[in-house]
Amino acid sequence: MTVDKLIKGKAKRILCFILSFILPIYMINFVFANSPEEFIITDARTYSEADIYKNHENSSKKIAITFDDGPHPQYTAQILDILKKYNIPATFFVVGTNVVRYPELITREIDEGHEIGNHTYNHAYLKNERRGTILNEIIDTERAIFEAADYRPKHLRPPGGMYNKEVCLLAGRLDYDIIIWDIDTRDWAKTPTDKIVNNVLTNVKSGDIILFHDFICGKSPTPEALEQIIPKLLEQGYSFVTVSELIYTN
Ligand SMILES: [Zn+2]
Repeated sequence: MTVDKLIKGKAKRILCFILSFILPIYMINFVFANSPEEFIITDARTYSEADIYKNHENSSKKIAITFDDGPHPQYTAQILDILKKYNIPATFFVVGTNVVRYPELITREIDEGHEIGNHTYNHAYLKNERRGTILNEIIDTERAIFEAADYRPKHLRPPGGMYNKEVCLLAGRLDYDIIIWDIDTRDWAKTPTDKIVNNVLTNVKSGDIILFHDFICGKSPTPEALEQIIPKLLEQGYSFVTVSELIYTN
């Protein structure tokens, strides 16, 4: 075999390698790079997953009360009045469809010193959803909040408190922390006021994140429960802070 033939044989093998392996990989990347959703997923591997908080211990008896599912035209306004009366901040995890319906309540929440978090656009159980839906649910809510009040939320509370690795990865990629809770008042189930009050006062400890709802269909026990819980906790030396203040400071 001549040197000339040897070189030709090698060139052929290199060409075969390019056609069999490199070209298909290039084509796959080309297709995915042209889909924004897939681009984010591919890119996400270089980002860390969202941090998850259920509480955050501290030595100064700070706690965070949180309200999900709003805004609600009646109950959110009523709860804001109560918070104002005691001069305490809270965090509202809002649903995009309600933000669009009641943007003025988002503005009021921000103006009165409260924090806004993302609770998805359609109250979707993200754990059961595909990537594209998870992203849309988070991003559409973020856009609705931004359009209502020029505000960008930092925290995601997945509905039902349910998440999986993919939700954590995508939330992290979108620069969110995931916020759950360690006291569930079950106010959404119309738990009687005295049971809610008793549950919170018996179980509360420094660093807790407490779950309430400001959007409840029918009669809500929440405003009355707050009227009893807040003064008692203030008397016991607890201070109320937003979720950001709780988890980012000691
Ligand atoms: Zn919810």
